[in-house]
Amino acid sequence: MASEASDLDWKWQIANRITTRHQLEEHIRLEEEERAAFDAGIPFSFAITPYYAARLVHPALRRTVVPTIREGKAMTGELADPLGEENHRVTPELIHTYPDKVLFLATTFCSTYCRYCTRSRMVGKPTAAARGPYEDTFRYIEEHESIRDVLVSGGDPLVMTDAVIDGLLGRLRSIPHVRTIRIGSKVPAVLPMRITEELCAILRRHQAWLSLHFIHPAELAPETRDACRRLSDHGIGMVSQTVLLKGVNDDVETLTDLFYGLLEINVKPYYLLQCDPVKGSAHFRTAVGKGIELIRALHGRISGLAIPQYVIDAPGGGGKVPLLGNEQIRRDGEEIVIINHEGKEFRYPDPTGSGA
Ligand SMILES: *Cc1c(COP(=O)(O)O)cnc(C)c1O
Repeated sequence: MASEASDLDWKWQIANRITTRHQLEEHIRLEEEERAAFDAGIPFSFAITPYYAARLVHPALRRTVVPTIREGKAMTGELADPLGEENHRVTPELIHTYPDKVLFLATTFCSTYCRYCTRSRMVGKPTAAARGPYEDTFRYIEEHESIRDVLVSGGDPLVMTDAVIDGLLGRLRSIPHVRTIRIGSKVPAVLPMRITEELCAILRRHQAWLSLHFIHPAELAPETRDACRRLSDHGIGMVSQTVLLKGVNDDVETLTDLFYGLLEINVKPYYLLQCDPVKGSAHFRTAVGKGIELIRALHGRISGLAIPQYVIDAPGGGGKVPLLGNEQIRRDGEEIVIINHEGKEFRYPDPTGSGA
């Protein structure tokens, strides 16, 4: 069963990804808005693992990975690079925004592409596909002793081979001032067979934490639960990040079910992220007021252990700002003005007509 997950299984999944309209139509009957997206040409990378494609009967999951014509529409305030990462890029794959921690974009490849991806500008782009050997990045981290936490992300680093992951983590661990290593991944949800005993042993050896991406309780299928249990059995620390998505998970019941479900498999809900104003994401974004309402409702209701922190990533590179109430935000016309940890103001597009 689960413990027999092998390299053959996940490599088969990658080799047989759904990347065309024709392949997608073998799994689902396309709706008008989805068909129109393929007719018009999809602006961002598209791929779904056969494993995840088999779960698309669930409308919430379908919405997050199947393109619709709406992603071709750029709205006011939307940006290709909403977090201003390019301004903080210090090597070809390193983003340095905060003193203590860096974001290491080790690959641009994902097994499955989310339609609301904050890095839709770069993920799955063939030009940037095979990165490495990362020498500039390792040297930068070595030369900056203030860096104690390295978040390896992408793309999805867990789709790299065992040898590459082992080498990368080993090199980071050889830097004495690096104390924490995290890997950001959606693999347990979209490619759970990737979580082999060998991979678990590598993560364990380098004491890497996992920062996982889950958006809906329907993702917590037996295969995914087994994958997380294998990781947990190896002593891997796991947290989850959930993007708040309109019509997918923007209600108390869905979030409650997801967060309790994650705790059951030893994954601590860490962040509930306001959806970044990335180009073509308007149909996914909830009003900020709605997010505050939801997190307040959770605080008054469920286990504190199950409650993540609701954060908005300040557009333009201001960093993550936790939101609890109205103290740190005010409205200015069609925008929300938010105050970050430095007392600086940033603007988030939030049309008054979008409903709270
Ligand atoms: C989110 C992020 C991190 C990690 O932030 P935490 O709040 O510590 O999880 C680091 N660097 C960048 C650029 C980020 O966007």
